Amino acid sequence: VVSLAVGWLFGRRLATAAVWADQARDRERRIEKGRRDLVAWVSHDLRTPLAGMRAMAEALEDGVVRDPATVREYHRRIRVETDRMSQLVDDLFELSRINAGALRLSLTAVPLGDLVSDALASTAPMAAARRIRLVAAESGWPVVTASPPELARVVANLLVNAVRYTPEDGTVMVSAGRDAGSAWLSVADTCGGIPEPDLPRLFDVAFRSERARTPHQPGGGTAGGAGGLGLAIVRGLVEAHGGRVDVHNIRDGCRFVVRLPAA
Ligand code: ADP
Repeated sequence: VVSLAVGWLFGRRLATAAVWADQARDRERRIEKGRRDLVAWVSHDLRTPLAGMRAMAEALEDGVVRDPATVREYHRRIRVETDRMSQLVDDLFELSRINAGALRLSLTAVPLGDLVSDALASTAPMAAARRIRLVAAESGWPVVTASPPELARVVANLLVNAVRYTPEDGTVMVSAGRDAGSAWLSVADTCGGIPEPDLPRLFDVAFRSERARTPHQPGGGTAGGAGGLGLAIVRGLVEAHGGRVDVHNIRDGCRFVVRLPAA
């Protein structure tokens, strides 16, 4: 009996060890895939616009384009692409900080309503340009424990996306609250919804939903190309706070919900 029991226990240990090994392999595979996606993304989203900029700069230098309107347009496109690439480099840096576990969060009590007001003020010009209504709930704003710059980044990324992927004359609604054990923040838009199979993949590096490849998404000069790092950064920052972020479809759009552990 003793040897049977020992054998059984040992068998269970082996089984548990096998499950752990499987989980570790899964994690490694996920990280490896993330790295490959990142390399593919860098080569597409940095090299493609670089090649375009080089061609435009050459055309200007060689005098191939002379017409003043075209010359102005080339200069403008080079500037827009340069700005976008600077943003991509910042995002890449942020994501590598997150992935390396090198984030230093200085947690403090943050009145979420104030932080969201600031983010709304920064997004207002972009929303106005596309005639999108930005609406914030009047009450229910909790105080959360978070690192202000990182939380501000999360809110800014979600708001900018909501404005960007919502067709003109749409609405973006921000609200927040508190329930058992956590505080939540919701950013809902009228983007028309995202295909269900795409929902879990939105937070992956460089994933772009087919549905969102519409003319109203700017993405600089690479519309239809790979997606960016915005939501991967959102997920990384939220998880670094011990929280989680989800997305689901609502009546005529989608809704991102961030949950942070209660103070
Ligand atoms: P990017 O916006 O540069 O593509 P993100 O990581 O921020 O990178 O977003 C990934 C994809 O998720 C987008 O390309 C788009 O397809 C989809 N998406 C993100 N936010 C929204 C939103 N608020 N409404 C609809 N689709 C969205």
